[in-house]
Amino acid sequence: MPIKVLASDIISRIAAGEVIERPASVVKELVENSLDAGATQIAVEINGGGIHLIRVADNGMGIPADEVELAFERHATGKLTSDADLEIISTLGFRGEALPSIASVSEVSIVTRHQDESIGTITKLERGVTTSKTKQAAPQGTIITVRNLFQNVPARLKFLKSAATETSHTSHLVAQYTLAFPEVKFTLTVNGRTTLRSPGNGNLKDTLIEVYGVETAKSMLEIHPDETSGENTLRVSGFVGPAALARSSRDYLSFFVNRRWIQNRSLTFAVEQAYQGMLMTGKHPIVALNIMLPPQEIDVNVHPTKREIRFRNEGEVFLAVQRAVRETLVGLSPVPRMRAPSHSVHGLSPDPLFSVPKAGARPGPAAFPPTAKQRPDQPALPASELPILRVIGQFQSTYILAEGPDGIYLIDQHAAHERILFEKIREQQICQAPEVQGLLEPLTIEVTARQAELLSSQIDILQEAGFSLEPFGEREYLVRAVPAMVKRHEIAPTLFEIIDSLGQAEPSQWSERIAQSLACHGAVRAGQILSLPEIDELMRQLEQTALPRHCPHGRPTMIHLPTSQLQKEFGRRT
Ligand code: ADP
Ligand code: MG
Repeated sequence: MPIKVLASDIISRIAAGEVIERPASVVKELVENSLDAGATQIAVEINGGGIHLIRVADNGMGIPADEVELAFERHATGKLTSDADLEIISTLGFRGEALPSIASVSEVSIVTRHQDESIGTITKLERGVTTSKTKQAAPQGTIITVRNLFQNVPARLKFLKSAATETSHTSHLVAQYTLAFPEVKFTLTVNGRTTLRSPGNGNLKDTLIEVYGVETAKSMLEIHPDETSGENTLRVSGFVGPAALARSSRDYLSFFVNRRWIQNRSLTFAVEQAYQGMLMTGKHPIVALNIMLPPQEIDVNVHPTKREIRFRNEGEVFLAVQRAVRETLVGLSPVPRMRAPSHSVHGLSPDPLFSVPKAGARPGPAAFPPTAKQRPDQPALPASELPILRVIGQFQSTYILAEGPDGIYLIDQHAAHERILFEKIREQQICQAPEVQGLLEPLTIEVTARQAELLSSQIDILQEAGFSLEPFGEREYLVRAVPAMVKRHEIAPTLFEIIDSLGQAEPSQWSERIAQSLACHGAVRAGQILSLPEIDELMRQLEQTALPRHCPHGRPTMIHLPTSQLQKEFGRRT
């Protein structure tokens, strides 16, 4: 094919593809424009996941009537004038790309009145072309409405997730901006219901209360900025959650650099390093960190959606973040000591919870991760079978030591119990007969706007799993019943973990994810002393499982030290 320059509307749509990935990207660009316009109030509204409608209304400076159409031209911006400005960007936007990109993939209407003008204008655009423009009385500020997103880009439309998932992206995004700009009053309205309302009083703690709920926000620790550092140096501030509040996704790590919400692996790593030794594997802390540094120290022009930035001196920022977080954690909250282990294990032995699953009713192995490769010197047993084991004892209150016909077995008691519970729950799911315990006193849990959004689509499957939840106000739920193996103090963490993990999974994986979370929370912990009869019972039940050698996450439940190896190590055999 001969080489040709593309028609301008195709160029626009290709460029839009870089900036506008999904409805939340539109919200991001519009909110950033409102913030750049000095707004103190920003109302975001979405319907149908943002595909039907997105509206962002602000009380910022507005756009002069004769500049509205210009704002929708590619590379038209009021924020940069010279090359040198690019080095010291202090606004969120600077490329003049967002409005034309949005307009090329949707129907836009904009009502705006500039602060120096007495009458506003309303302008309508379809696929980037102005179709009408009239004068209209309007309050100072800008209201942009975006309808029927991606109707002319079917390929993009196909890649969108369900309305609930798209909504959850927007909820997450708006929550991040409320944290980055506590002095701005944000509201988020989803399908006519207001789901997030930030106080706008400039206080980050009050904003955290709105985003994460009172209980969580209250226990977060404030980073005290280094008083010795001056205005023009690197400063780290914000709040960090104690390790006990850790969550199973990284969505709760928020970084703002010069008030821009960004994602950065190195910062995530710095924070997780600061928590070293305090978090269980797979757990991530709740953190809202503000990093301020001179604008020439960062390059914000490295990513199409400006989600990533580059630091001139990344090592220095890394160390400052790690130190600030660590000092806050260690200085204000003593690292928790392991609690004295209780001598009786909830449920082991007589409790019907631990009844042995019936043979034949086990879930098929297809649902599980493949088992590890067997070493050649291991007995030729199928992975799903265990030899008869004689329990020798418990080691470090964490591992069970057992003797088999072919050597020694070290069994991780938590992982083994997880496997037992997991298969039991899967069996109950298949029979649609969850074992449920009613709560004498209902428990109230507070969820984030994003979790509330996810919960609304998950409520049926949670019900099937044995949770009875009732909405109670906008962001609270009453828990009236839970699956039998969940202990009362574990209810909220278990639910949060399930909501978050379902949010990251396809609906087809939901019941398996629920079983994993319930098994993990219901299983005996490392550090719990078990009696010999309890250990025997645990081993007997493990033998009955379909895949005794791996926990539901695919990690091994046991390590085998073959007799032949022992003989070699001790020089009894070469
Ligand atoms: P950029 O933000 O990179 O400048 P945009 O395409 O997002 O590019 O916006 C183009 C211009 O339109 C902005 O530079 C600004 O002058 C104007 N503008 C957009 N949204 C608003 C708003 N909500 N209030 C005031 N001016 C706005
Ligand atoms: Mg912009």
